[in-house]
Amino acid sequence: MSNELKKITCIECPKGCCLTVETDNQGCVIGVSGNECEKGDAYVRLEMEHPMRILTSSVLTEGLALKMIPVRTSESIPRDRIMEAMEAIKNICVKNNVVAGESVADNFLGLNVDLIATRDSIRSC
Ligand code: SF4
Repeated sequence: MSNELKKITCIECPKGCCLTVETDNQGCVIGVSGNECEKGDAYVRLEMEHPMRILTSSVLTEGLALKMIPVRTSESIPRDRIMEAMEAIKNICVKNNVVAGESVADNFLGLNVDLIATRDSIRSC
């Protein structure tokens, strides 16, 4: 198999440079062009070789005013762990009130990130 060329838009700043990425037959980045700064190069290498995502979802509650509480990971997690994370979220049940920013699962999946509430569990209206 030969090297491949792909086009990716850099999302690190509003300029949105159109980057051309050359990868080898293992999917490893061997060249980046079209970037106006080093952030673009770093963005492509991370996105192609170790893509990360912030996960947003909701968890069930028990005995609280809200039936579900929106949550997100405190930092990006590996994209290839997203499905496992979604399965784990199904098993989380919040039984005590939380405020926005409070962790509902510390060190979620052992990834050194917390799963945090993105709103208070007490209704404001
Ligand atoms: S390569 Fe640099 S200038 Fe271009 S979009 Fe990315 S961060 Fe912005």
